[in-house]
Amino acid sequence: MLGEGIIKGMAETARNFLGSYVSDERLTTVQYPEERLPQLENARQFPFLVYDGDDWQKGLRCVSCQICEKECPPKCIYIVKSKDKKPDYKGQPQFYPAVFDIDLSVCMSCGICAEVCPFESIKMDTNYEWSRTDRFGSLLVHKEQLAKPNTHYHEIHPTDAAASDAVLAAEIAKAQAKAKAAAEAKAKAAAAQSTAVPAAA
Ligand code: SF4
Ligand code: SF4
Repeated sequence: MLGEGIIKGMAETARNFLGSYVSDERLTTVQYPEERLPQLENARQFPFLVYDGDDWQKGLRCVSCQICEKECPPKCIYIVKSKDKKPDYKGQPQFYPAVFDIDLSVCMSCGICAEVCPFESIKMDTNYEWSRTDRFGSLLVHKEQLAKPNTHYHEIHPTDAAASDAVLAAEIAKAQAKAKAAAEAKAKAAAAQSTAVPAAA
């Protein structure tokens, strides 16, 4: 029936409005900002940059590959790659973002940056309280404001954060196995060379 959905919606609104006078269950709103509704695990508001350990500058996972910058639909991520490198979570030297800004006034909370990042570096935060008094400068959120520990990720999205940890742990184990195999091959080659020299002499 045409308009059935609208009628059902209006009936539900009326039930909640009248019922809220007699039952707390029908009270669907809260007295914000004194009260806040708990955030759902899959809620997403604005991105943040994950870091491991206690030092955000050392532990930032981002390697400045700029994939998120390219894929962001409204182009609100601005990255400047570093000139030097620092060890990443696998201990391998990597570039890092000298500048990583996101324009809060442009971001549409789509989460595409988090989906395309191959390094588990950028995730969606659940914080929605981003009002500012300065409509220009403070709407550009810098990396020191975007950086949040992995423990924060676990707090807001425990399921995703556990999956993310598993991905990184598998990559670290793979890198360690590769380094071990390379070291063993090198030692074997050195041993073969040292036994071959007296024979040739
Ligand atoms: S959430 Fe979407 S719009 Fe916002 S920075 Fe990420 S990709 Fe861009
Ligand atoms: S957040 Fe991820 S996709 Fe974006 S630059 Fe850093 S490593 Fe690359």
